[in-house]
Amino acid sequence: MVTSSYFCYFLVHCRWHAVSSWTWDAQDETCGICRMAFDGCCPDCKLPGDDCPLIWGACNHAFHLHCILKWVNSQSAQAHCPMCRREWQFKE
Ligand SMILES: [Zn+2]
Ligand SMILES: [Zn+2]
Ligand SMILES: [Zn+2]
Repeated sequence: MVTSSYFCYFLVHCRWHAVSSWTWDAQDETCGICRMAFDGCCPDCKLPGDDCPLIWGACNHAFHLHCILKWVNSQSAQAHCPMCRREWQFKE
């Protein structure tokens, strides 16, 4: 029956999406600071996912949260985006 097979397909699809829900929707595929892939984690973390989130700046560049925090803390004055050199601000 057409309706029930469609329903099965829908269920399988939803489950697949739930499993891979931590893949991020970023423009670039690698972090501009550590050069690791966004579907992996930063060098300080062992497991990708919610423990090593991505963060976007006001300039729309994305980095691992841990990488940009390290970067911001290493700057003596106002931090600038490592990619475009605009003043770094976390996107609201
Ligand atoms: Zn990184
Ligand atoms: Zn991390
Ligand atoms: Zn930027």
